[in-house]
Amino acid sequence: MAKPLAGRTIYLEQTRDLVLAPKEVVLTFDDGPVPYNTRSVLDALDAHGVKGLFFMVGEMADWHGEAAKAVVADDQTIGSHTYQHPHLTSIGLTGAIADIDKGNASVEKATGVTPHFFRFPYLAENEALGRALQSRGIIPVGIDVDSRDYQPSTTDEIVSRVMTGLEAHGGGIVLMHDLQGRTARAIGPLLDRLEADGYKVVTLRYGKPPEPAPEPLLVNVFGRLPKGI
Ligand SMILES: [Zn+2]
Repeated sequence: MAKPLAGRTIYLEQTRDLVLAPKEVVLTFDDGPVPYNTRSVLDALDAHGVKGLFFMVGEMADWHGEAAKAVVADDQTIGSHTYQHPHLTSIGLTGAIADIDKGNASVEKATGVTPHFFRFPYLAENEALGRALQSRGIIPVGIDVDSRDYQPSTTDEIVSRVMTGLEAHGGGIVLMHDLQGRTARAIGPLLDRLEADGYKVVTLRYGKPPEPAPEPLLVNVFGRLPKGI
């Protein structure tokens, strides 16, 4: 079955490697994982053959290990989002870095995947924190379009807010929260709308692109057979 919403895969080693073409979208899901809503989001993504980027909170990954494993089993991309979701620029550098490290450890323990992507809670960041991430080989990912799914909203409101934001940017990184029931309900209709409007959902992966497989040696067997056979 054709999956017209499925776009290319971009491999990142640094933030600046992320360059989206017009109509390309990255879907990000923060603050989970949780048992039911995360599953609904995964099912909607699967139905369209697309991948998201899940920025898990360490404490949530500790609590909801099965949900965390389900995200990995679906071959989604894993990121971290601290341990307790503090406002990192308000708690002092040492405490902030400790919370980031603890979050990474919990996400890794729950998923079996070392997170190489990170989102700052409340988008609160500074240079020292950026350097701490860089020294750990972790790439911070910002946002272009805020679905504002953390505020009471109907499905139609979430969908039209995201589409309006994407139209203004020509594409971009969308912030959503798999924690939220309203997001679990809105994601299917949103994906349908993205597909209808000709967008492509890009998969982000950490590292270098895999080497292309060598060309198979094509031997014209029949041309080599002795005449008469
Ligand atoms: Zn968050």
